[in-house]
Amino acid sequence: MYAESTLEFQSLNLLPSILSQVEAKGYTHPTPIQVQAIPPLLEGKDLLGIAKTGSGKTAAFSLPLIDKLGRNKVNITPNHIRSLILSPTRELASQIENNIINYSEGLELKTKVVFGGVGKQPQIEALNLGLDVLVATPGRLLDLIERGHIQFDELEVLVLDEADMMLDMGFLGDVKKVISFLPQNKQTLLFSATMPGAIENLANNLLHTPVKVEVDSESSLGEAIEQKIYTVEKINKGYLLHSMLEDPELTSVLLFCKTKFGAERIVENLQRTSVACATIHSNKSQSERERALRAFREGEIRILVATDIAARGIDIKHVSHVINYNLPEDPKNYIHRIGRTGRAGNKGVAISFCVESEVVLLKNIGKLIKRKFEIDSNQPFHKEISFSAKASAKSKNSKKKKQRRHKG
Ligand code: AMP
Repeated sequence: MYAESTLEFQSLNLLPSILSQVEAKGYTHPTPIQVQAIPPLLEGKDLLGIAKTGSGKTAAFSLPLIDKLGRNKVNITPNHIRSLILSPTRELASQIENNIINYSEGLELKTKVVFGGVGKQPQIEALNLGLDVLVATPGRLLDLIERGHIQFDELEVLVLDEADMMLDMGFLGDVKKVISFLPQNKQTLLFSATMPGAIENLANNLLHTPVKVEVDSESSLGEAIEQKIYTVEKINKGYLLHSMLEDPELTSVLLFCKTKFGAERIVENLQRTSVACATIHSNKSQSERERALRAFREGEIRILVATDIAARGIDIKHVSHVINYNLPEDPKNYIHRIGRTGRAGNKGVAISFCVESEVVLLKNIGKLIKRKFEIDSNQPFHKEISFSAKASAKSKNSKKKKQRRHKG
């Protein structure tokens, strides 16, 4: 999936312990974003990174950060932190923490993740000791700041990850509030998959003569993902899914659907036929979400059924297939969803079900990723669907009529 790079990690001037951790992870060469970002970050420059998950951006910011903190070990004052990484979701924040702990093994850096939905006390106790790296979601972080558990006079580095997702999830206000507590003099990194106006403004205010690196822009998808569209009648979607599961190639499937209710219904049906599966969505408690993710990661369950919010950014290397049970309303989510497969150099398959009323959504996705989809009729529940503008309008109108009837 990654473009070939002739550069070796060895030439990047990172601490030997970091290089051995990278080697132990099996990384042979830095990814393009790592090649571009690591040298200026080691020089202490600010950075604007336009990149999505799957590009290797976590290591791109973590390795130089660990290098900086590991070369200059200091006694941290209680309740002070040397670096802050802000991330939009608990899952992403945990993933980043795991990566940092892994890459910094042997350097004895104090690292902690804080997010909502779990008890505060262990977080407060970790903060009391002072931290080299704090990874946080904005809401819980603000809460802890406002209760006086975190001081920023010793802050050296700020990383804002997935800035456009923060905006989408309504966290931009919280992020700005957090920033208002931070000192001016620090190294700042901002990563975003896209650059909507609000994020561009934030970047302009926050970054000082940043180095700009851009890889794998939002409208491009790796060649590693084979994309298929199955047109089907709504009523046959469940049968189609069951017939697909007869194929042993579908070893580890991330299935996206529109609603939490829909997710639960799909899982109930799958469990009736003894398919090992679980759901992950925002109604689930943090421990349930973590349990489901762990089981999926470790291959105990074959299918993880998710809604968009819960699954964005999740890094699970071996997802063999992504299935879109419903097409996403926002075409950008198509890219986020299918980007969960074909990661870290593996091949992946993304199969999207499309019913007649979703033709417009499919067209919007096609426009975004600059691709004309061919319909794959090689499946037992194939339904001919008209793709003419007239047909899409007709299906829209019948939907409106139905809604009116429903209201009445
Ligand atoms: P990220 O974009 O940070 O979510 O990373 C995506 C995946 O790529 C993760 O599973 C990383 O472990 C993996 N990865 C990061 N850097 C490299 C590299 N240089 N070579 C191979 N895999 C990598």
